[in-house]
Amino acid sequence: MTARIIDGNALSAEVRGQLAERAAALKTKGITPCLAVILVGEDPASAVYVRNKVAACEKAGMRSLRDVYAPDVDPAVVFARIAELNADPTVHGILVQLPLPKHFDSEAVLEAISPEKDVDGFHAENVGALMQGNPRFIPCTPYGVMKMLESANVPLKGAEVVIVGRSNIVGKPMAMLLLAQSCTVTICHSQSRDLAFHTKRADILVAAVGRAKMITGDMIKPGATVIDVGINRTPEGKLCGDVDFETAKEVAGAITPVPGGVGPMTITMLLANTLEAAERTQMRCAK
Ligand code: NDP
Repeated sequence: MTARIIDGNALSAEVRGQLAERAAALKTKGITPCLAVILVGEDPASAVYVRNKVAACEKAGMRSLRDVYAPDVDPAVVFARIAELNADPTVHGILVQLPLPKHFDSEAVLEAISPEKDVDGFHAENVGALMQGNPRFIPCTPYGVMKMLESANVPLKGAEVVIVGRSNIVGKPMAMLLLAQSCTVTICHSQSRDLAFHTKRADILVAAVGRAKMITGDMIKPGATVIDVGINRTPEGKLCGDVDFETAKEVAGAITPVPGGVGPMTITMLLANTLEAAERTQMRCAK
C-alpha cells in the first residue's frame, strides 16, 4: 500500500486564501489585523521562522511588526516592549519566538503577553481555557494538525491516538484537542517503555519528538494516519521529519510529508489566530 499524502502546502494555500478575504473585509471596517513578533538572539532557525511569519502576514493582507534584540539584551527591555504592544490597540497578536536565551525566564515572558493577544496560545490562562474545552487561542501547530485531519476526513470519534512527545507547545495541547473530539489518547515520551508497542496500536499517530526518522514503517499500524510534526536535518543538511517517510508510506493509509506538511499549516493557523483576535476587537467596538 502507498499512503495518501496529506498536503500541507495545498491546504495552507486554501486556508490562507480564505483568511485574506476575511482580512480584506475587516479592513473595510477600518481594522488591519496586526501581528507583532519579538525575536531575541541570533539563532538561524528562529530567524527563518520569524521571517516566514512576517512574510505570510503581509501576503495575507495583514500588518506585522518585528522587533529584533541582541542575545544579551536586558530582559527588562523586552518586558517593556511587550507592555507597550499590550497597550497598543492597533496590535492584535503578540508572539515571542522561542527558545529565548538562558538569562530569560521564558515562562514570565509568556505570562507578560496579554491573554487577549496571545496568538500562540501559550499563556497559562489560555492553556487553562483549552484544558477546560473552551479555548480562546489554540496553539498553532496542533491547530494546524486538527485542520489537516479534518480536511483528510480522518474519523476521530473513538479513534486510538498515540502522540509521541509531551511538550507544552505540541504534545500536550494536541492531546487535549483530540480528547475533545472523543479520541482515546496515549501520550508517549522519552521514558515510555516499548514505544513500538504503543505506536502500533494507533489509528492516528502523531510524532513530535525532534529525532530524525525515529518512527519507522514497522512501528505503524497498517492503514494508520501518520502526522509528522518533527523538523530535523539529515547529516547532508536536508530537512526531514521524525518519521522515516520511505518505510512509513508503505504501511500508513495517509501521511504528512516533511517539508510541506505540518510546517506550513503552523504559520497558517498563526494568521488565523491573529485575524480572529482582530475580529474580536471589531466585535467589541461594534457593541
Ligand atoms: P521538545 O524537545 O520540547 O519535546 C520533545 C518530546 O519528545 C519530549 O516530550 C520528549 O520526552 C520526547 N522524546 C524525546 N526522545 C524520545 C524518545 N526516544 N522516545 C519518545 N519520546 C521522546 O520538542 P517540541 O515539542 O518543541 O518539538 C518536537 C519536534 O517538532 C521538533 O522537531 C520541532 O522542531 C518540531 N516542531 C515543528 C513545528 C512545525 O511547525 N512543524 C512546530 C513546533 C515544533 P521527555 O518529555 O520525556 O523529554
